[in-house]
Amino acid sequence: MNRTNREWLPFYCNPDAHLPKIPETRALFSWRPMLIQDYIGKSISFLESDEIKDAGFEYDYRRVVPCRWKCSDESLFGVDLAIFAHTRAYPFDKGKIGGQFNADSLAASVAHGSINVDVGGSHVGYVPDEHGGSFGRIWRPATQEYSSDCGHLMAVLAPFMRVYRDAGDSILVSQPMGERPMISIPNEYVQPTWSSERIKLLVTLGELTDGEVEYKAAEPHTATIMGRSLFYLHPKFLEELNTETARCLCTPEPRRLGGLLHHSYFNIWDSEAELQNGLPKDRLLLYMKFILAARHSPAPLKAAVVNAAIHHNLLTDAVRMGAYRDYDFVSISGVFIDLYDEKSRSYVNLFQPMGMTIKPRGRTREREFTPEQIHEIFDRMPLAKPVMPLEQVFGYERPEHVLESFSFEPGKYSRTLL
Ligand SMILES: [Zn+2]
Repeated sequence: MNRTNREWLPFYCNPDAHLPKIPETRALFSWRPMLIQDYIGKSISFLESDEIKDAGFEYDYRRVVPCRWKCSDESLFGVDLAIFAHTRAYPFDKGKIGGQFNADSLAASVAHGSINVDVGGSHVGYVPDEHGGSFGRIWRPATQEYSSDCGHLMAVLAPFMRVYRDAGDSILVSQPMGERPMISIPNEYVQPTWSSERIKLLVTLGELTDGEVEYKAAEPHTATIMGRSLFYLHPKFLEELNTETARCLCTPEPRRLGGLLHHSYFNIWDSEAELQNGLPKDRLLLYMKFILAARHSPAPLKAAVVNAAIHHNLLTDAVRMGAYRDYDFVSISGVFIDLYDEKSRSYVNLFQPMGMTIKPRGRTREREFTPEQIHEIFDRMPLAKPVMPLEQVFGYERPEHVLESFSFEPGKYSRTLL
């Protein structure tokens, strides 16, 4: 009989429950990100254009409070500098550590100007190379070493990545001569109370396995190994692999499951997560298995995309409240990509927009733009002349060589599965 272990899952990991969708990283990065200087310069042109008027928004620079929501990491200072150079205003801070939107800031920000222009998102460090580069860390000149970026997000990810990697390394597949393929799973991944980890990973027995292997005295490989449970591998799992991968995996010698532990075959959660209405307060945790098992985008980048999407949603939801009905909001959210540039000896920021919403005053619903529409609009917008020369504010103008060094694009990354 096939058994299930789903009754051990916390309510919010229910595999049948729909989880709100997040934009696909691959789709977003089919466009190149922009230098933050260019993005702010083009935003100003867009705000002043007739096009935005058609969306019901009237730009009056005297009523504008430029706002930003982002992590407090010093590597993101370029965002403030770009806003300052273009507006001579110090941006109002609507952010919290970890690239989170602070809804409590709204009451104050609207009192400072009736048009809030929000630039915000999550951030991720990038170290370029010609093969797509790597995400999640950055060179820190003050310590002369690489460190995580976003430090907060990477610290949230780290224990999940460790447990996921350990599961991939310790779940073993084998196919003894003349037998069906079998899968040996450490007990802590079958039943969560067998694990002393705070982060629990549970394989989905119903999807990955097809019944327990019975001990037969004549077949020594069926004997129970302490700390492990032995099952037949679900035929559907093998059907979904290409022939070569299936052949490499199913040998008499046990092979690690590795990155083949796809998100449909496990759940992972923090058993001590702070909950609110039964859900983890940090909604990023709901998406953890998709972040860890993503095959076409590095986990730190995917985490930044998910985090930005969650907080953009919180922002647009918050500005719909009756109290903000009489104010205008233009909000563009996305992912900041931070690099350290040896040439200018500075942090440089790129920006990949993910969504733009315009909520004109007097209305609660807003006009929404897709990433495709944003890139299309921004591609044809001229760069507005900064109020103060970029050279004077940044110490350099447009570090185009840094933009050139960004080589990540769909297809440049695929995880080693076995
Ligand atoms: Zn950060």
